Amino acid sequence: MHALSKLKPEPGIWQVEVEIPQPGPNDVLIEVAVSAICGTDMHIYNWDDWAQHTIPVPMVVGHEFVGRVAALGSHVDGLQLGQRVSGEGHITCGYCRNCRAGTRHLCRNTIGVGVNRPGSFAQYLMIPAVNVFPIPDAVDDRHAAIFDPLGNAVHTALAFNLVGEDVLITGAGPIGLMAAAVARHVGARHVVITDVNDYRLDLGRQMGADRVVNVSREALPEVMRDLGMREGFDVGLEMSGNAAAMDQMFSVMNHGGRIAQLGIPAAPVALDYEKLVFKGLTLKGIYGREMFETWYKMTAMLESGLNIDPVITHEFSITDFQQGFDAMASGQSGKVLLNWN
Ligand code: NAD
Ligand code: ZN
Repeated sequence: MHALSKLKPEPGIWQVEVEIPQPGPNDVLIEVAVSAICGTDMHIYNWDDWAQHTIPVPMVVGHEFVGRVAALGSHVDGLQLGQRVSGEGHITCGYCRNCRAGTRHLCRNTIGVGVNRPGSFAQYLMIPAVNVFPIPDAVDDRHAAIFDPLGNAVHTALAFNLVGEDVLITGAGPIGLMAAAVARHVGARHVVITDVNDYRLDLGRQMGADRVVNVSREALPEVMRDLGMREGFDVGLEMSGNAAAMDQMFSVMNHGGRIAQLGIPAAPVALDYEKLVFKGLTLKGIYGREMFETWYKMTAMLESGLNIDPVITHEFSITDFQQGFDAMASGQSGKVLLNWN
């Protein structure tokens, strides 16, 4: 089958021919229809420090996908050949305390599809049946292909109650943009999103943010005054991993504010813990998606009118994969889809 592989320990990604994976008794083979490029794939593409320490080469990468069930392991129940599915890319051990408690997103032994084992930039992907998530007819392939990052946005946005709250989202990358749509959908009052990239802030407007703020030109306290906010933000969704954005968020939170931290800093960050203490802030780290509560919630929100369409800015045939990676690298993009058919 055709696949995109990290073939060599250097920047780039290469189209290769590899064997179709053989499902074990509890596995499902999925014929991939659409896969999407994640920021993680760009780390691997660029071969940065993290990738060099994490990715064994050669490795078929990718973990955002939708497709159809092509083969079922002998012990698999409840799925049918041809069924349209996406799936959870975090494969958990099943034995640790959190797995046994049903909080599988906190498994300490998680391994990643397209990171530690072959991924979805391929005609066929094999994952355990428990990781497969059936897609209802009402959700189209383009949206189902990005359930993984939409799930990051939904997991983060639903970490705290947003109804009637003033919400600050730092970072208008694909995940921050989708979080803005979710915050609007579930009934936040003001949804403010920041970035330093005007292309992405324009998408923020289309995704339902009330105010988009380029922090290289505009100060947040002025924006808050314009909006009639007297005290500060109630909930912060940190989606940039940028130290300055994290510092800024601490500054503009109201006392008792709650912050869900999804962004991953490239290096350790010094934060002003005095603000954390004196403001009585709550800071919660968010990893992956809750299995599978997040998956049910995002499906239900799409079925009830959540619109994430503007975040999908580029679609290419798999033969033009290089254009897809170039679009991602340009910063002038939201989600980039690769079509396998
Ligand atoms: P992204 O890199 O596309 O987006 C980050 C955005 O932050 C960019 O648009 C960038 O311009 C913006 N930014 C930079 N400096 C800023 C500043 N000072 N203020 C505001 N914004 C600023 O990333 P993404 O794919 O949307 O993911 C968002 C973050 O979440 C990343 O840090 C990523 O590593 C992380 N992530 C975490 C998980 C998890 O499970 N915790 C999963 C996926 C991604
Ligand atoms: Zn576990």
